Amino acid sequence: MFRAILVEKTDSGQATRLAELDESSLPAANVLVGVQRSTVNYKDALALTGKAPVIRKFPMVPGIDGAGEVLESTHASFRPGDRVLVNGFGVGESHWGCLAGRARLEGAWLLPIPAAFTATQAMAIGTAGYTAMLCVMALERHGVTPEKGEVLVTGAAGGVGSVAIALLSKLGYRVVASTGRAGEAPYLTGLGAAEVIDRATLSAPGKPLQKERWAGVVDSVGSHTLANACAATRYGGTVAACGLAGGMDLPASVAPFILRGVTLAGVDSVMAPMAVRSEAWQRLARDLDPARLSAMTREIGLAEAIPAAADLLAGKVRGRIVVDTTR
Ligand code: NDP
Repeated sequence: MFRAILVEKTDSGQATRLAELDESSLPAANVLVGVQRSTVNYKDALALTGKAPVIRKFPMVPGIDGAGEVLESTHASFRPGDRVLVNGFGVGESHWGCLAGRARLEGAWLLPIPAAFTATQAMAIGTAGYTAMLCVMALERHGVTPEKGEVLVTGAAGGVGSVAIALLSKLGYRVVASTGRAGEAPYLTGLGAAEVIDRATLSAPGKPLQKERWAGVVDSVGSHTLANACAATRYGGTVAACGLAGGMDLPASVAPFILRGVTLAGVDSVMAPMAVRSEAWQRLARDLDPARLSAMTREIGLAEAIPAAADLLAGKVRGRIVVDTTR
C-alpha cells in the first residue's frame, strides 16, 4: 500500500483527497519508482483544484514531476536503486503521476537525477525550473548575450520566474523582475534581480511599438503582459513565452516582429525531446546556485499539497514548493 493524492470525478466536478492505494492499482508501465519528492507547479494546482481541465481521465493521481528511486524495471536503461526524475510527458494528466509514494512510469520518460542534485533539489527545480532553463536556452540560441542589454522576467515571484532570475543573474545578465507583490522586492533582489518593477505597468493594453528596452524576455504571464513585452523589445531581441498565468490570449500586433525583427520563441516542457531535457538538466547543475534554489523553496507533506494548490492559484505562493511524498 502507498499514500497518494487522488482526484475523482463527481456530479459537480471533481473531488481531491489523500488516499491509501494498492500497488496493483497503478497503471501499466515498465519502471516502478519509489517517489521520494514531488512538487506543486501551476499545472498541478489546476489539476488539484479543477480550475482548468488538466486531468484527461479519472480517477487520476496528479503530480507532473517526481524524483525517487527505481524499485523494479524491465527497461534496459534503468535498474533498481537508480535515482530518477520525470517532468511532464502527460504524467499527472493522462497517466497517474507523482503526488504519491509510488508511480509506475515508462523508462522513456525518465532521466537520471544529475549527480549535483538530491531528490529534494531536483523537485525544487521541477517543471517550473526546467522550463526556466529552456527559456534561457531559447534566449541564448537567438543570440541574447549579457552585453546585449537587460532581460525582463515576468511572474517574477512565481516558480518559473524565480528560477529564471537566479539563472540569468548568475550568467551575468542584468535582470529586471516584474511582480504584483511589491513586498517581495527583497526576495527578488536576493535571487539576483537588479531592478523590480510593478506588473501593473505591463498588464494594461499598450501601444504596438514602445520605447525599446529589453534585449530578452522570459514571460510566464501571457496576454497584455506578453504583448507589451514584445512591443518594448529592442531591435533583434527575443521573447521566450512559456506561460499563461495572466491569460491565454495574446492581444498583440505584428509591428515588433516586422519592424524590429523581434523573435517570439515558444517554449514547451511537456513534450520536449530527451536530448533537450538532458541538456537543460546539465545546464541547471552548472548554472543554478544551490543557495538561491534553497532560498526560493519550501517543503511540505503530501496532504498539504491540496491546500497549497489553492494558495498557488491565489498568488500566495512564493518561489517553489517541494512535496515530501514520504510524510
Ligand atoms: P506560479 O504560480 O508559481 O507563478 C506564476 C506567477 O505569475 C505568480 O507568482 C505571479 O507572479 C504571476 N501572476 C499570477 N497571476 C497573474 C496575473 N493575473 N497577471 C499577471 N501576473 C500574474 O506558476 P509557475 O511559475 O509554476 O508557472 C507559470 C506559468 O508558466 C503558468 O502559466 C504555467 O502553466 C506555465 N508553465 C508552462 C510550461 C511550459 O511547458 N510551457 C512549464 C511550466 C510552467 P508575481 O506575484 O510575481 O506577480
